[in-house]
Amino acid sequence: MSTSYRGRFAPSPTGPLHFGSLVAALGSCLDARTQGGEWLVRMEDIDTPRNVPGAADDILRTLDAFGFEWDGLVVYQSSRHAAYGEALESLRAAGKVYGCACSRKEIADSATLAAIDGGMVYPGICRSGLPVGRLARAWRLRVDMSEMAFDDRLQGHIAQVLERDVGDFVLLRADGLFAYQLAVVVDDAWQGITDIVRGADLLASTPRQIWLQRCLGCATPTYAHLPVATNAAGEKLSKQTRAAPLNVADAAGELVAALHFLGQPVSAGLAAASVREVWTWALANWSFSAVPRQRGIVIP
Ligand code: GLU
Repeated sequence: MSTSYRGRFAPSPTGPLHFGSLVAALGSCLDARTQGGEWLVRMEDIDTPRNVPGAADDILRTLDAFGFEWDGLVVYQSSRHAAYGEALESLRAAGKVYGCACSRKEIADSATLAAIDGGMVYPGICRSGLPVGRLARAWRLRVDMSEMAFDDRLQGHIAQVLERDVGDFVLLRADGLFAYQLAVVVDDAWQGITDIVRGADLLASTPRQIWLQRCLGCATPTYAHLPVATNAAGEKLSKQTRAAPLNVADAAGELVAALHFLGQPVSAGLAAASVREVWTWALANWSFSAVPRQRGIVIP
């Protein structure tokens, strides 16, 4: 079958894979493969202070042990600084970004609006130029009051007014690191990603990414934000909340649990099968329309 579908899984190497990352990997991979598409793995390791030594290799070994097969070589964002620099430079040349001198404290002291994903909406202090005697610490992308909207394949119509909900956002951080928002957009475009399937914890970032795609003249992929696994308090299970690492010795059982989480009518008996058999079942039976249209699901 020929198709132009190209999907990806983009973990950050901040610890071992946990159940939530397995769900994202499985959902994106099955969506790609059942449409005859390609599926790539990209290691999002630009936030170097958060990287855990050995975690990237551990993630790839775990994916392999769980029967994932990716196309091509794994791309490491840590090797892509030149591309992010070029993208930032093109935005600078077009007057779309500006240098910002504000410290966190200055922003906290003068901001009045809470941003959609925590933090505060940047109040625009450096928007029309740096205050006299101040140097740029970070570079911000200008946003405006137009509505950024998209139709998520699972979560429906999502809209934000970036100026009100997020504010001008940082592309190059005060610590000299490129921001996730810039790297993810540059790499999705460069790798020709057509369809993004990832966790709903990233839903609030998507309007920013679509805005950035437009500023850079990149195509916008389709999006499907899968429900994320949460604890009873509604908190996402993450490496930060110390979600248990996956049990590689029970890869088939973990895959079956992830399929069940994604609404697939998998029989519990399949957990006793081999990893290969679980994949055969999943590839033959994957039903995107069975995936719960929720942002979070509590798991015991
Ligand atoms: N690296 C991000 C994370 O691990 C995911 C980025 C994405 O899928 O766009 O949360």
